[in-house]
Amino acid sequence: MLQPFRLEEPPSIGEASQLLARYGDSAKLYAGGTELLLVMKEGLLQYEHLINIKLIPELTRMAIQDGVLHIGAAITHRTLEQSPLVQRHFPTLAGVEANVANVRVREVGTLGGNLCFAEPHADPGTLLQVYDATVQLERHGSSRQLPVEELFVDSFEVDIEEDELLTSIQVPVLVPNTAVAYRKFGFLERPSVGVAVAVTATPEQLHTVKLAVGCVGPIPRRMREVEDLLSGKGIDDARGAMETAMQMAGQAADAVTDLHGSAEYKAYLVGVLLRQAFEEAYETALVTA
Ligand SMILES: Cc1cc2nc3c(=O)[nH]c(=O)nc-3n(C[C@H](O)[C@H](O)[C@H](O)COP(=O)(O)OP(=O)(O)OC[C@H]3O[C@@H](n4cnc5c(N)ncnc54)[C@H](O)[C@@H]3O)c2cc1C
Repeated sequence: MLQPFRLEEPPSIGEASQLLARYGDSAKLYAGGTELLLVMKEGLLQYEHLINIKLIPELTRMAIQDGVLHIGAAITHRTLEQSPLVQRHFPTLAGVEANVANVRVREVGTLGGNLCFAEPHADPGTLLQVYDATVQLERHGSSRQLPVEELFVDSFEVDIEEDELLTSIQVPVLVPNTAVAYRKFGFLERPSVGVAVAVTATPEQLHTVKLAVGCVGPIPRRMREVEDLLSGKGIDDARGAMETAMQMAGQAADAVTDLHGSAEYKAYLVGVLLRQAFEEAYETALVTA
């Protein structure tokens, strides 16, 4: 049962950070509450103060500036899914957001909450890595930026200080002839395997391939050795190297056995989804000027 708590509603990032510093372990930031209230209802965690951040104006703003999409951390999955700006410039991101959870969760759950909770079976943390996205972390009086891949420390653990807020996510607009594809598989409520691929290509050559794998192990991760194997090759050579790439990605994914399947099964699926996502990204990149 949910224990009583006091709801704080600071109007600014600085004041939210000060409340975190003042209350320490007895307080937690509260965005959509789809994860937080669940664990509190189950009695796994208790807080005397919940700090609602959805009323802080900067956290619900979204815009493209200087070729970078800035997404306020308290923007919901539903807003991202339905945004014409995201649909136009980041169709894969809009599509992935449209397939997060169910509409009730998407309506209130936020992108910032998703990343900060670091539940391993989640989509955006994997996808955002092949965009080379970064997160802005702020506390009273200071701020820093971190690549998304460095945010994740372990399952349910992120590199965020006690009095820091994740305030926004920055996603660079893709360069011409680049496309991103994301494939996931799962039979439970949350995804069991997620693979994101970004390809920059002309018909003759793959200039760069970026790959991130998530859901199978504790944290989503970039696979740079596999990227190096495929980047710079002609398409026929890359396809020829795909079997090796699939095996390398499966092994490097750090898959664990759990309710979603055995480690071997997940490693195999990583390879299958890699091939599918690669082909989709390549074909799309050729028609993306
Ligand atoms: C049934 C179900 C199915 C789901 N399926 C999927 C799925 O298919 N794919 C997927 O990716 N996800 C899935 N999810 C996860 C869902 O996306 C998250 O629950 C949601 O995004 C969390 O956002 P929130 O705003 O509700 O976070 P909250 O519950 O409010 O917060 C989560 C945690 O993050 C912290 N936090 C929140 N915002 C910030 C911030 N700005 N700075 C610092 N810390 C912060 C909070 O203190 C808390 O610890 C599912 C969830 C449910 C319940």
